[in-house]
Amino acid sequence: MAIMTAELTFAAPRRAKPPRHLADLSPAQRGELLQEMGEPAYRARQLSGHYFGHLRTDPDAMTDVPKDRRDRLAADLLPPLLQPVQHLDCDGGTTRKTVWRLFDGATVESVLMRYPDRVTLCVSSQAGCGMNCPFCATGQAGLTRNMSAAEIVDQVVAGARMLRDGEIAGGPGRVSNVVFMGMGEPLANYRAVLGAVRRLTDPAPDGLGLSQRSVTVSTVGLVPAMDRLTDEGLAVTLAVSLHAPDDELRDTLVPVNTRWKVAEVLDAAWRHTRRTRRRVSIEYAMIRDVNDQAWRADLLGTLLKGHLVHVNLIPLNPTPGSKWTASRRRDEAEFVRRLESHGVPVTVRDTRGREIDGACGQLATVST
Ligand code: SAH
Repeated sequence: MAIMTAELTFAAPRRAKPPRHLADLSPAQRGELLQEMGEPAYRARQLSGHYFGHLRTDPDAMTDVPKDRRDRLAADLLPPLLQPVQHLDCDGGTTRKTVWRLFDGATVESVLMRYPDRVTLCVSSQAGCGMNCPFCATGQAGLTRNMSAAEIVDQVVAGARMLRDGEIAGGPGRVSNVVFMGMGEPLANYRAVLGAVRRLTDPAPDGLGLSQRSVTVSTVGLVPAMDRLTDEGLAVTLAVSLHAPDDELRDTLVPVNTRWKVAEVLDAAWRHTRRTRRRVSIEYAMIRDVNDQAWRADLLGTLLKGHLVHVNLIPLNPTPGSKWTASRRRDEAEFVRRLESHGVPVTVRDTRGREIDGACGQLATVST
């Protein structure tokens, strides 16, 4: 199977596993496990309701579970996975980056962004990243390990609690969107990411009940895993970090391009649009005098023209030690104009979280 190659190639180092958690399991697996533990099958739904519905892990609050069973069930199925190390707020308290420590000391980051009409949570799927893109801070430190499905989901649950409890400016609220655009390459940790997507989108009490459409999975372009995702038939949004329309440049900006070329990555994207009828998002960091030339805009426009696609231009965010900087305003404007002249929809992404190193490509806590 092609995907096996991808998973072997990008396999994370072997390490102790995170503690087992309810959110690692499908509803059926939860039922089986609880029966093995000598519990009635409906206990699985009760515990799921506490965690996904009420965002609760405190055994004392589980009044529908017999008192003598609560502590053990909470310890076995709802162990703490994320310890907050630091919260950094900006944008008047509507953007918050949180640094989390995982059970083994590895650290990851998530970013909550509140907009007038939605709240987006940007989650990490790996501690570090093995893709080694030279303009991205996460890529510089390398891969520490894959995260479990529950570690991914718990970032969203934690964000949902912060919102519910009024810790985020703008009053109590809910998470509406999740983007897999934090640390890591989600499609290099396929199984856990898919599990997390299911937990996020399964209706309560089995999951958090977000709509599939409001979940975005972003990838550097691991073609076999993109196809596998397409075959799941989910209505999630696929984002492809392209950054260059030509292989010569993309080989240097996104090193995995030496394995799967621009044309192959875009073909996989079009298979996704055909199957799902969902617009694919093309991410393109605008790097001054590197990938922002007018001819590259024309080439990109030619490649994307006529497809169900949207281009997100991301002004390059500064990363430590990088020689690169964001494009000039006029080059950016010309790039936009040329894409539009090919009929390709394009927007320039905001740089939320830049002051707290929480913007695209800036997430880089040092893992141990
Ligand atoms: N590995 C996945 C998920 C990370 S998403 C992926 O690459 O798609 C993070 C997004 O921010 C990606 O589109 C990435 O290319 C982009 N990015 C990385 N470094 C950046 C930087 N310094 N400035 C702007 N965008 C950056």
